[in-house]
Amino acid sequence: MKTKKRYEQDFLENIAPATRQMSPYMVEGGQEAEVKLNQNENPYDLPDALKRDILEEFRKECWNRYPDVFPNQAIERYARFLGVPKECVIMGNGSNELIYAIGLATLRRNASMLIPSPSFSLYEKVATLLEADVIKVAMTDALEFQVDEILEEAERSRPNLIALCAPNNPTSKSLALEDIEDIVAHSRAIVLVDEAYIEFSKRRSALELLDRYSNLVVLRTFSKAFGLAGLRIGFAIANPALAAELLKPKIPFASNRLAEIALIKLLDNYHVVQNAVASILRERERLYDELRKIDAIKTHESDANFLIIELENPTRVFKALKARGVLVRNVSSYPLMEKCLRVNVGTREENDRFLAALKETLAG
Ligand code: PMP
Repeated sequence: MKTKKRYEQDFLENIAPATRQMSPYMVEGGQEAEVKLNQNENPYDLPDALKRDILEEFRKECWNRYPDVFPNQAIERYARFLGVPKECVIMGNGSNELIYAIGLATLRRNASMLIPSPSFSLYEKVATLLEADVIKVAMTDALEFQVDEILEEAERSRPNLIALCAPNNPTSKSLALEDIEDIVAHSRAIVLVDEAYIEFSKRRSALELLDRYSNLVVLRTFSKAFGLAGLRIGFAIANPALAAELLKPKIPFASNRLAEIALIKLLDNYHVVQNAVASILRERERLYDELRKIDAIKTHESDANFLIIELENPTRVFKALKARGVLVRNVSSYPLMEKCLRVNVGTREENDRFLAALKETLAG
């Protein structure tokens, strides 16, 4: 009998270099606080009656059976809500899952992705995992997009994918539809327009461009305005030929029936979303006005459901707020944002507690 050789085990040798070098995804300060303003969530949970209705429907389901490989009922309902053909719509387990699918469909070693910087960290993470190159185009010092630079860089380096987050997380600034169209029309890349915060924005949606451009994919989420972050629902919308390609690398059965039922019921009760958005926008303006009265900080105008404030020693302020039960996001490690904190708009009471804690901290 052949003798079997025993190897010294070092499992790390088998981990892909891009993964080994990567830091794990972390939410600084944790995810629990009395006043939680760190993840750009909707501060209003669904009304209890609606939750009961969703759960009652979900109770009747066979939990031992697989859902549809791709959730057709929810896709049809959301396509109708948007007024686009259902062949244009892909549903994911959160839009994060769809960012991965779009990355898998477009990137590889020697391919590249252009990302305005700073922006949502997941785009770069996916590119790095796939060993694609990341080309960054800096925002201005005022945190605005530099459209001409993006266009020039797209021409020069021919990326396969451009990720435009509009309104942008973490800067809160947006991009006019004309500028998005310029980039979509004048580059050969697939252009991902992440509209996670579009419901809070003054600008028009890139969905208007869908008929005319085959290289455009728009991303939407139910985690922000729709208030369903816990159920993990996101959508990608593209013309049918592109959508068919983006669907191929997607994880089958990724969306569960509870998400599908909740989505349909919530769209049937869309006034719940409209009321939440109206209240968040009212509070955003009030919070902005109150913050502008504080001399020691600079507050950026926002097109999303969160505000960026600039101040001395953001990490100290972040910790002091946390000690007072108020959790915001410390974004000071992002380029151009060394002095920034990000705070999402909460309920009136939460915003008041944040303002009081901030004033105390700055006075102390
Ligand atoms: N895109 C952007 C710009 C985001 O800020 C977020 C959440 N922070 C997501 C996508 C992911 O959202 P989800 O996976 O919950 O749909």
